[in-house]
Amino acid sequence: MFRPLTAAATALATLFGAATALAAEVNVYTTRQPELIQPIFDAFTAESGIKVNVLYAEKGLIERMKAEGDRSPADLYMTADVSNVKAATDAGLTQPHGNATVGDIVPAELRDEAGHWFALTTRARVAYVSKERVAEGEVTTFEDLADPKWKGRICTRPGSHSYNLALISAVIAHHGEEAAKTWVEGLRDNLARKPQGNDRAQVKAVWAGECDIAIGNTYYMGQMLADPEQVPWAESVRVVFPTFEGGGAHVNISGAALTRSAPNKAEAEKLIDFLLSPAAQELYAGLNHEYPVRAGVPASELVQSWGSFTPDTIGLTKIGSLRGEALRIVEETQFDLGPNS
Ligand code: FE
Repeated sequence: MFRPLTAAATALATLFGAATALAAEVNVYTTRQPELIQPIFDAFTAESGIKVNVLYAEKGLIERMKAEGDRSPADLYMTADVSNVKAATDAGLTQPHGNATVGDIVPAELRDEAGHWFALTTRARVAYVSKERVAEGEVTTFEDLADPKWKGRICTRPGSHSYNLALISAVIAHHGEEAAKTWVEGLRDNLARKPQGNDRAQVKAVWAGECDIAIGNTYYMGQMLADPEQVPWAESVRVVFPTFEGGGAHVNISGAALTRSAPNKAEAEKLIDFLLSPAAQELYAGLNHEYPVRAGVPASELVQSWGSFTPDTIGLTKIGSLRGEALRIVEETQFDLGPNS
């Protein structure tokens, strides 16, 4: 919800008249959690004097922007996962940003060619492997996770979740749809249980001895280590960055897009420049244990402690465009019903 003016702000507006009433502002719609993003907006306001009004909602923002149409107050849409940011562009809700610097800072594979959306941070989708039951160097590639030697030893959230659809999309991009289907079948047959829960629930299952390998996004390691109940889960596993054969590690993004309606376009573009600045990149990536997109800005020490990797070179546009095919494979293989389905 947009915050109403406080009494003090109202009094100031009255005192300073129109100048304050027309103070620069920018409106952000975001699915990201307030604690991960509000500190960035506060820093931007402190630096620029531009007020940031934020509408936080886990779901329904695209529907809301569609319903609001050209009268939408939204200037910037910020979300996680390429499928979510690309969905806004595919729905015609975004416009190319006018920031000349975005193309210099954000690698080409992490942004829309036409300039509609771009990454602010990245995260890798990795294997959390049991320290006790999986040897160093035993997990190497995603392809290998479909090998029958892992039968009954892998846990993951449903294949129909966007994180796994992006992973399967990458397999399609590397090997084609038929091979990807065979891979998904192999992975399904290696599952210890019916897909259920979120990424952290899979690591918990490794800790509990239900499986030996959990598939999950990197930042959840940071989140588990920050929660006393989950620290033992985190400490029961090692982070391994599997690669694709002939490729790199699987990464996804958190990103942003300028909305089509953007009533405060100039301010939104200033916010975009700020979000890509070295200081904001370090802060924003650090808050959710992600990787900055800007070269030369280091990830936090904790994130670096999980190891280094070479990201895959398949562009996120390609990954996002294969989502439909990936979902069809998940449905055809009945992945979400679990092993032996
Ligand atoms: Fe997540």
